[in-house]
Amino acid sequence: MTGTAIGEFDLIRRCFTRARDASAPGIVLGIGDDAALLAPAPGCECVVSVDTLVAGVHFPADTPPADIGWKSLAVNLSDLAAMGATPRACFLALTLPQSDEDWCAEFARGFFALADSAGCALAGGDTTSGSLSITVTVIGEAPAGRALRRAGARAGDLVCVSGTPGEAALGLARWQAGNRDAHDAAIARLLRPSPRVALGEALRGIATACIDVSDGLLGDLGHVLRASGNLGADIDLAALPRAASLAALSDDSFFDQVLAGGDDYELCFTVPAAAYEQAIAAGKAAGVAVSVIGRVTPDGDVRCLDAGGNIRPVTRHSWEHFTP
Ligand code: ADP
Ligand code: MG
Repeated sequence: MTGTAIGEFDLIRRCFTRARDASAPGIVLGIGDDAALLAPAPGCECVVSVDTLVAGVHFPADTPPADIGWKSLAVNLSDLAAMGATPRACFLALTLPQSDEDWCAEFARGFFALADSAGCALAGGDTTSGSLSITVTVIGEAPAGRALRRAGARAGDLVCVSGTPGEAALGLARWQAGNRDAHDAAIARLLRPSPRVALGEALRGIATACIDVSDGLLGDLGHVLRASGNLGADIDLAALPRAASLAALSDDSFFDQVLAGGDDYELCFTVPAAAYEQAIAAGKAAGVAVSVIGRVTPDGDVRCLDAGGNIRPVTRHSWEHFTP
């Protein structure tokens, strides 16, 4: 950070206060008072989530500020997507080493690019000094009783995943190896993940359980299965969707990236077998592919099966405990 220094209130006014947010749907009073006033739509529940990103932990310290802005909102919108919620408002708590208007303007550019495409108004926040960290709170809504949850999967349900997980892990490996090409598909996935908000909304009433994939597909699927009553799953390795950027990998490293790689922000969800067509149609309507990758089983194991039906042990430590 080496740009123009500026006072806290000027920074908030110039970089983060916009007329369009003050008059967005559901915002009665936005930035400028001690707190915001929000009006949820009649018959809806508020869906609220918060996530912190710390420089050097959740993103490489040399990530461009516009990409940090995008990602800090994306990881939060992904949690709303997993709940099937429609985004309404967000709150941005920024801790900055210096008050740097140029850095904040770039951060805001990335942040608002995603906020505007998701219909999410910035309604408040907090600005403090310290090591770079960003905490975003998102508020969405869903018709009462219809938000998606982790609990709800049943034995026999199909296990589905959106998009092509595994690319962000490859992007991180490339970034750590010195590649800074933002046009590289894997690096773009790392820097600017696409939260699957439209898919989450379309899955209300179809999915029996849902989670976003932030820590790795097998680990996150495990959360759904445990929340749903110690269920298991058979994963069909041949059905895992493979991104073009992962085409050159050996099967072993592909499975490793797709099953255990983090930071993809795809949705992993379960649907009754009878809702297969509806799940595929929900993906089509939302503009993202949906793949069926397995089935929920009544016992508590997750087994990965190759094309011949043989159990393939998975080796990476983070999902070792899922192997039988
Ligand atoms: P207070 O001292 O009463 O907590 P602040 O001085 O922190 O209020 O903030 C003044 C106004 O600016 C509040 O409406 C707050 O929500 C908003 N705000 C502060 N920082 C940010 C930020 N980084 N992004 C958006 N709004 C912010
Ligand atoms: Mg106050």
